Amino acid sequence: MQITFLGTGTSNGVPMVACACPVCRSANPKNKRLRSSVLLAKNGKNLLLDASLDLRQQALRQDIRDLEAVLITHTHADHIFGLDEVRRYNVVHHKRIPVFLSAEADKELRQTMRYLYETPRQLGGGVSLLNNYILQPWQQLEIAGCKVTALPVKHGLLDIFGYRVDDFAYLTDCSFIPEETFAALRGVAVVVLDALRDTPHPTHFSLAQAVAAAERIGARQTFFTHIAHNLEHEAVNQKLPDGMQLAYDGLTLKIPEIYSRDI
Ligand SMILES: [Zn+2]
Ligand SMILES: [Zn+2]
Ligand SMILES: [Zn+2]
Repeated sequence: MQITFLGTGTSNGVPMVACACPVCRSANPKNKRLRSSVLLAKNGKNLLLDASLDLRQQALRQDIRDLEAVLITHTHADHIFGLDEVRRYNVVHHKRIPVFLSAEADKELRQTMRYLYETPRQLGGGVSLLNNYILQPWQQLEIAGCKVTALPVKHGLLDIFGYRVDDFAYLTDCSFIPEETFAALRGVAVVVLDALRDTPHPTHFSLAQAVAAAERIGARQTFFTHIAHNLEHEAVNQKLPDGMQLAYDGLTLKIPEIYSRDI
């Protein structure tokens, strides 16, 4: 399985509009963060984890030609507004795109992007054609040859999903991991965790909280995402424990099959 970080930024992205801080003004491309999303590729099929606000730019940059399905963690704008770009795949491949999400997210999405789920009053520009599939907490299913599990996590007061896909797990926008989710992460090879900034936040892990969660999960490699402008890529990476680092846009890694067998 190949994993590509399409975006690693918090909801504002980095650089932020109207900010002149050193990270926002940094020339290092690793400090430039589009809104968070990951693309998984296996056996020639692409699974998209969240449809970020920057999906158009991300799809052009990574030359994403097709999508097998989209997995949605929750319905904050930075994670769903890219669904508007899916219509290109409808047109090119003459198919609807399956969207997997919680019952709550399904309800919210139908309100937030109502026009995607109603017969258009005027035809012309076209809208994305999606088929929503509701997942229950802990539900396991196979999508495009991948074993997918919906993993409940807390995002402040919200109950949202992270996902385990084979031996990869993606827990963005997370401030608390329930015991059952820790158990379901056992044996995972690579985990991606929310790490917003150094100081505490009501709806996101701080870097220290994310490191503590990563130590408990014990994956071979941990990457942090959904990063605000407070964290400078190189400076933070130098002080992180072995096997942990900040992800950056465009980072690609492969999880070899061997990982699954020897854990
Ligand atoms: Zn977010
Ligand atoms: Zn800034
Ligand atoms: Zn969020």
